Amino acid sequence: MSLKEQFPFFQHNPSTVYLDSAATTQKPKSVIDAIDRFYQADNVNVHRGSYRAAKQATNDYEQSRIDVAKHINAYTPSDIVWTKGTTDSINTVAMSWAQHQLNTGDRIVLLASEHHANFVPWQQLALNKGLEIDFIELTEDGVIDLAQYAEVMKQQPKFVAMQHVSNALGNIHPIEQMTKMAKAVGATVLIDGAQAIAHIEVDVQALNCDFYAFSGHKMFGPTGIGVLYIAPFIKSQIRPVQLGGEMIRRVSRQETTFRPLPALLETGTPNIAGVIALKAAINFIESEKYHAQHERIQSLYHGLVAQLEIIDGIKIYGDPINNVGVVSFTYADESVSDLGALLDQQGIAVRVGHHCAMPLMDALGINGTVRVSLAAYNDQEDVDRFISALNHSIEILDI
Ligand code: PMP
Repeated sequence: MSLKEQFPFFQHNPSTVYLDSAATTQKPKSVIDAIDRFYQADNVNVHRGSYRAAKQATNDYEQSRIDVAKHINAYTPSDIVWTKGTTDSINTVAMSWAQHQLNTGDRIVLLASEHHANFVPWQQLALNKGLEIDFIELTEDGVIDLAQYAEVMKQQPKFVAMQHVSNALGNIHPIEQMTKMAKAVGATVLIDGAQAIAHIEVDVQALNCDFYAFSGHKMFGPTGIGVLYIAPFIKSQIRPVQLGGEMIRRVSRQETTFRPLPALLETGTPNIAGVIALKAAINFIESEKYHAQHERIQSLYHGLVAQLEIIDGIKIYGDPINNVGVVSFTYADESVSDLGALLDQQGIAVRVGHHCAMPLMDALGINGTVRVSLAAYNDQEDVDRFISALNHSIEILDI
């Protein structure tokens, strides 16, 4: 079975060219089957019942935590907290840590290209608490300005929140080096790994970051499940956010004592099917068949960029050298929504607009781009169909 054949979406939509995997990836049958099997055959609650089926569901659920921990080389499975997704993970850090650890006048650092999920929580916290935000700019060729970053580090920020990979441009940022520099001045570091996790081998111990956040649905897993990695050395600073079942040790009329992490942040009945299906997604990403696609996708991507570069009027944003397989572009001064609509009429699914990175679009002086994002199931035919649809759209726009 070819890799593409493992994805039922393509059998249901044979004429669609799906080039929007940065928004969400399609799901392999193994992930869909895991969700189906749970609700058809195994549906009981976890961490509660003493009967056999409840123990089995709890084992499957906790095995997923073990697999995720191994996948990112966490210190222990208890470093893994289940959330709804990257947005939820980042907001959890804002409420469980930053809210009481950052104080008026403290400096925090963000990249100019952050997704709103890793920008708005910090902007609002800064407004509420009187924090100073330093933005790290991109250079003209779309690369993080490391010289400026080094200057900003001299002011000893308390907190650095940065994306591993830009969702709008696909650039892979040098977060190993940046985390090292931030830790050297005593900052706490959060990495938004939403766009990295499906493409890059993440090793949180080597990175030495405090928090690493990602979503299941961008790594071939289901929506509604995400991960927040919390390093052992920051755990004592975490306070609960939601209160209720699961996160308590003992409750009396007078007082409540809480369980340690990860339970402390996992209140109420969790997304059991989502967690179990995430295990199937990890298995898929760790399979040889998936790894074998990496070089193929990189050469498909470079071919795509080369074909775009020769079209008159196309302007590419970002760094095509160090990229997970995303190309963002505009055509002349045409509206990207018109271009998106014309591509859609020809069966091409791409994202057009600001890509939840409005401050980046402001910095680039544009309203938005057309974003093409590749994943392991894309092939040369997809790229060829996209380029010919783009040329046809341009002919129409030029009339
Ligand atoms: N950060 C980045 C870099 C992203 O690309 C996304 C999703 N587009 C998010 C955060 C938010 O992820 P989610 O919507 O799954 O919470």
